[in-house]
Parts: sequence; C-alpha cells; structure tokens
Amino acid sequence: MPRTDPHPTPDPDDPGPEAPGAEAGEPHADCVECGRPTAYPASRPGIVRCPVCEWQEAQRSACSG
Ligand SMILES: [Zn+2]
Repeated sequence: MPRTDPHPTPDPDDPGPEAPGAEAGEPHADCVECGRPTAYPASRPGIVRCPVCEWQEAQRSACSG
C-alpha cells in the first residue's frame, strides 16, 4: 500500500471554493455598509458586505440577545 501524504501541498493555481462566481474581470458589488468593493460579484443578489463589515455584523449578532 502506497504511503499517502495527509497534508498535500495546495495548488496555487486552484482558486478554491471561497468565492463562487467571482470570476476575473467581473465587477465586484459594493459593500452596503461602507461602499468598498466586496469579494462578491455585482450580479450577486441580496445584501453584500465587505469582509470587514461582515465581521462587524457577525459581532453585533453575537452580542445581541
Ligand atoms: Zn464594508
């Protein structure tokens, strides 16, 4: 049985599943909170926030209640 590496080196060419739909050249949606470009494409429906505002929103949600 061949030895398998439990920690394979990530392929730098693989964008990964982090930003589905965010293709190169596509404009990014602006954050509804601060107006900065987000990691989401402009075609994404609903409210979009930049990573900073998403984090702040998560903190608010965690503290409320
Ligand atoms: Zn923002």
